[in-house]
Amino acid sequence: MHEADELARSRSGVTGSGGIILSVRCKIRMSAAGVHLFDRVSGTNVLLDEVPVPAEQFSAAPRYLSVALTNACELRCNYCYAPKHVAALDKERVLKWAIELDAAGCLGVGFGGGEPTAYRRFAQLCSDITQSTSMAVTFTTHGHRLTPRLVESLRGVVHFVRLSVDGVGSTYERLRGRPFEAVVRAAALLGSLAPFGINAVINGDTVGELDDLAEFADKAGASELLLLPEQPTAAIPGISDADAQRLVEWAAAARIGARLAISRTGLEAALSTAEAVPGEHPLDAHMHVDAMGFLRPHAYAPKGLSVGGSIMEAVHALRGAR
Ligand code: SF4
Repeated sequence: MHEADELARSRSGVTGSGGIILSVRCKIRMSAAGVHLFDRVSGTNVLLDEVPVPAEQFSAAPRYLSVALTNACELRCNYCYAPKHVAALDKERVLKWAIELDAAGCLGVGFGGGEPTAYRRFAQLCSDITQSTSMAVTFTTHGHRLTPRLVESLRGVVHFVRLSVDGVGSTYERLRGRPFEAVVRAAALLGSLAPFGINAVINGDTVGELDDLAEFADKAGASELLLLPEQPTAAIPGISDADAQRLVEWAAAARIGARLAISRTGLEAALSTAEAVPGEHPLDAHMHVDAMGFLRPHAYAPKGLSVGGSIMEAVHALRGAR
């Protein structure tokens, strides 16, 4: 789960240009909002909004693509929206898509699932994309497959990681069916790998633990706490209005060390929360590919287009259908 929130993240947000130093590998994206500079290593975004960009020079790719590499996951969270049938994408196909998207101005690809670390040759895919493109490579994980060996194989080839932690202590253990201590160890491993954030699904079970989650994120050294109001699925109704209101009130008063982000409508909305580009159409901000190879506006969208030989052809077709 949580593939869509794997943003080509910003630790500083889209900012003005004053005083920010970018690496020579900075990537450029052009849009109606201006010229967007992105450095995947530092996570810095700069939007030169005073620069007019002719429409014919707009980057054709979405700013960010989330990819469900596989539907496989050994956990059984009752709020999971990932399909349960067996499906996984071909590694070479994903690499080809990434190269195509990179050339068309996409800033980042984020892997989810299912559980992306259950995907065969996951580290090799991350490495291939990082070597072949200038996009940020990110992933969201439940953390229970992370080992020192896997972390070592991912070193230098991923730019940000999101760890899913829904509640703390016994709440986490009840919801995720795994020891809380294990996810604490996972956070420590990630801290040695790359900048990372904590994701938390907020529902009636976890809304009372927001202070504890914030404390956990701070202590773990996370740079972001992303709160995801539970979405309805066939099995559950989603967060109640009362709990959503509690979340809003908590967020308004929260003072935490990590950057706080909240998805309003689902995981993909968190993308624009993190790097809001003024006036950006949702399909310019983000698209999603599921584990069957269908391109969708977002992970919850009921319909998608099968991606054939070219993902940019599918991107254009999806835009044409809007
Ligand atoms: S960790 Fe839970 S929510 Fe995420 S994919 Fe697995 S079952 Fe679904």
